[in-house]
Amino acid sequence: MADELVVESQIAPPALSCPKCEGMLPMTLGEVSCLLCEAKVRIDHPLTRRKWKEEKLSCPACSKVLVAGVDQRPAQLKCGTCEAYFTLEAQTPRVEIACPGCERNLRMKRRPGARNIACPACETEFVVRF
Ligand SMILES: [Zn+2]
Ligand SMILES: [Zn+2]
Ligand SMILES: [Zn+2]
Repeated sequence: MADELVVESQIAPPALSCPKCEGMLPMTLGEVSCLLCEAKVRIDHPLTRRKWKEEKLSCPACSKVLVAGVDQRPAQLKCGTCEAYFTLEAQTPRVEIACPGCERNLRMKRRPGARNIACPACETEFVVRF
């Protein structure tokens, strides 16, 4: 089985919160469901779609620069040079969260929903929610 090649887009869709519970919505476009209250929300953003379509990225296999040409993420792309298939994902923004145990700043991906975190420095376990 070949390794799955994934490239992270440089363009993040707008960060929106759920109109019902104020929780963070998944960062994508189209029909999304809130991970906290399961409300269904339609998100569209023509500017993001245009930028996604015109985005230039390097092929993860041969590093050649290509244009995405598709206005959705994730997208399945094929490199015209080396013919490798890869997945282009929406950008996940990073945030810094202070550990409640040692106050060290931990850098993590901001993904919607709740997650258990164990601080690598002091091993305090805590929950983050976006
Ligand atoms: Zn919600
Ligand atoms: Zn390639
Ligand atoms: Zn800590």
